[in-house]
Amino acid sequence: MPRPLTATIHVSALTHNLNVAKKAAPHSKVWAVVKANAYGHGLERAMRGFKAADGLGLVELEGAVKLRELGWKKPVLLLEGFFESADLKLLVRHRLEAAIHCMEQINMLESASLAAPIDVHLKINSGMNRLGFTPAQAKPAYERLRALKSVGNIRFLTHFANADDPANAALSAQEQAKRFAEAVDGLPGERSLSNSAASLLHGEFASDWIRPGVMLYGGSPGKRSAGDFGLQPAMTLSSELIGIQHISRGDAVGYGSRFVAGQAMKIGVVACGYADGYPRHAPTGTPVIVDGIRTQVIGRISMDLMTVDLTPAPDVHVGSKVTLWGKNLPIDEVAQAADTIGYELMCAVAPRVKIAED
Ligand SMILES: *Cc1c(COP(=O)(O)O)cnc(C)c1O
Repeated sequence: MPRPLTATIHVSALTHNLNVAKKAAPHSKVWAVVKANAYGHGLERAMRGFKAADGLGLVELEGAVKLRELGWKKPVLLLEGFFESADLKLLVRHRLEAAIHCMEQINMLESASLAAPIDVHLKINSGMNRLGFTPAQAKPAYERLRALKSVGNIRFLTHFANADDPANAALSAQEQAKRFAEAVDGLPGERSLSNSAASLLHGEFASDWIRPGVMLYGGSPGKRSAGDFGLQPAMTLSSELIGIQHISRGDAVGYGSRFVAGQAMKIGVVACGYADGYPRHAPTGTPVIVDGIRTQVIGRISMDLMTVDLTPAPDVHVGSKVTLWGKNLPIDEVAQAADTIGYELMCAVAPRVKIAED
């Protein structure tokens, strides 16, 4: 019997969430973002769940090639483009489109002699100041690309820093959209701006393509809950109680003895720890469900185990089912307790966790 820790992927939820994105942007095509092994859900499963997407976007070249090998025929977009000239052959062979975010990439395209042109997406830095050309560089970069035999279609994209946060004083989505529109004004080619937060909250920026990621997996891109938007969790991480301890007032639990019982109590030991991807920083109080009853983590998360309070669930036993996140326990609630975001938790599920599908 393997260790009873499983990430169950709900492929029908992937499809449902894609439909939520399509409804939010009914006139846009959709790049379903599948980077980081489809946010931990598996590329092959994502490909099936997102059959109705217009294209798949990711940052890993090997993942893009795998999508082709798995039979994905529609567009594939490398969101960070390519990293060295040697990559270009693979882009041509597998018909991969590339974001172009810096002059060095244009130089590589210029010196390449390719069997077929590559479709590119000129990335504009509209204020986030990670990747992309400044608005002033946009037109010269476009002209350079336009002149190259190695370049086919040219499209445009930018990325929002705060689409989930209308109160952000440093940079608003409106300001970024305005800078982007000015930068590419008059240039022919499709536009794409919106991540999940913008797709859900700013229909006005939907344009030709949206690029939702986390929402497709049932994660919230911001402060409102995923359920609020009609999203369904696409992953349930579950395990079992593999031990029970009856402790007395004053007894301590786990490394660092961070939890000391205020009264006699029953605690459960769950087969899941930080080596499985559960956040070590989740404090006492982080929600967990045991046998359908909501309770909390107590003490430190260890490598392979965590301890939970069984006070609200007196009738459970070794073998009782434990839900760490997913159906009935939004991943964002666990993330918030651990001072992180649902994105990080879903991406961090470790290779040793068994994957199932329903
Ligand atoms: C990851 C990513 C997205 C998706 O972002 P979410 O917040 O997960 O919706 C969209 N565009 C680009 C360029 C990305 O890297």
